[in-house]
Amino acid sequence: MFQSKIKVEISTLQCNKHFGNPYIQIKIDKGCNGIERLMCSECIADQRGVYNVMSIVEASERIQNLKSQQQQQILDFIKSQKQMLEKLREKTNSLQSKIYELFSSLNQKFDDYSVELDNLVAEYNCCDLLKEINFLFESPNQIIYQQFLIDSERIQIMNRIYSSKVNNLTLTLKSIIADWNVQNEFDEKFNQISTQINNNRIDKNHSILTKISEIKQQQSCWAIAFNKSNSIMAAGCEENIKIWNFQDKKLIDSGITLKGHSDYVQCLVFSKYHDWFVSGGLDEKIICWNQINTKKWQENQFLNTGQGIIQCLILTQAEDQIISSHDSKIKVWNLNIECNIISFKQSLDMHKQTVQSICVNENSTFLISSASDNKIILWSKKSSQEWSYQCTINKITNDCGNRVSFISNSAFVWQQEKQGILHIFNFENGEFIEKPELKVKLKSENKQDRTLLFPSIFNKKKNIFIQKHHKYVYILKKDNENQLLINGDPIYCESKFNYGTITNDGNYLVIWNLESRSFNVYQIN
Ligand SMILES: [Zn+2]
Repeated sequence: MFQSKIKVEISTLQCNKHFGNPYIQIKIDKGCNGIERLMCSECIADQRGVYNVMSIVEASERIQNLKSQQQQQILDFIKSQKQMLEKLREKTNSLQSKIYELFSSLNQKFDDYSVELDNLVAEYNCCDLLKEINFLFESPNQIIYQQFLIDSERIQIMNRIYSSKVNNLTLTLKSIIADWNVQNEFDEKFNQISTQINNNRIDKNHSILTKISEIKQQQSCWAIAFNKSNSIMAAGCEENIKIWNFQDKKLIDSGITLKGHSDYVQCLVFSKYHDWFVSGGLDEKIICWNQINTKKWQENQFLNTGQGIIQCLILTQAEDQIISSHDSKIKVWNLNIECNIISFKQSLDMHKQTVQSICVNENSTFLISSASDNKIILWSKKSSQEWSYQCTINKITNDCGNRVSFISNSAFVWQQEKQGILHIFNFENGEFIEKPELKVKLKSENKQDRTLLFPSIFNKKKNIFIQKHHKYVYILKKDNENQLLINGDPIYCESKFNYGTITNDGNYLVIWNLESRSFNVYQIN
């Protein structure tokens, strides 16, 4: 890294009371300013009373030190900016060479054509007497005219051939340039820097988020969960599950990898009461795992549902049921963790298209499902543990929603897909009613988030709501009227393919994203 030698200029200063004398000491008491602080040997001899001093050498050393710390700080900050510029430069360079190649081949085509035309002329330089002899007795004008027709026909054919060759190259050039939107990329990266600056500014004052650590994780993580005591984090790493220990605000790889799924793990849910979790994946399997000791986890239930890929998987508050969604169907499984029993209970089939998100309220009386058929369905549970269709909930916006979450026993948030807007529904007079006055517009309001990653989380202890949308993750505070207020700037994730979760105490947030391929750990203050 660039390191300059900072020099504090003192050599030109001479005492203005005692001509030509160099300064040797500095008064460090309050109440004097700038030049008044400087003293030469004669000033020192003249001085009466008690005062505190520092040598010029020490003062300049201290100033050097401070300046170099300030410089280092800005260097560290600029480093990330330079890395972004470097990325853009790499892209520009590769584009430059591609375009150079294309222009070269374009010029090559012109040269080739020129040679072919010359060849045509050159054909007359040499001729076969036996062939030509028969034409000698015809009208020369007629012969010349006939030959010109033949030659011009050949030239027209050549024109068409080269036109199509040139056309192919120019189309490729145009499409490359059209695809490359440097302005957008530049602005996006700069936007990121601005967010970082604002985050820093807020961090020092009243921000509720502080990034505390980062750990690389190359394989894609589309499911992350913490155990009941927040000391263990499990994450789906493609088709495996890896276990991290969470200690002193840091994630430490435990070295444990759990194999059982044969395709990407999509869902992970820890028990709030036992050392146990359940996983669901694209392989249609539900697997339950329990901890044997600090080094060992074991698969204790394996269910090949055969119902289609598992998109969502939740546990009821009492942990007596697992509810999973597979394409347009919702399946309910009875569960007894202590006795290690899991069994099929019922199927809830009312949606016409993929169920994108499901949630259950704390009392486990309501189940809400949101699907790409643009419908939100309310299911209710009677004492019999059996769920039944209650109604399709009326909503104002004609869109589907990819995240739905309860924020109290009788209110839920539905995030629509085509826009970054959260809609709040309250249970009033026996039904869920949309409250337009409570809706929340996110910074990414005009972006579409088609991913189903990172379900919304409401944390009751801290009364906070975590909402992923597009490339941003928002922290919102809930007030008594179910109004959600965005707290500080959202976290910018570089990519919309990101997944995260928070610890059960609501103190830490972990996000994995595809661009950085790392877990970022944030403290929620
Ligand atoms: Zn002096």
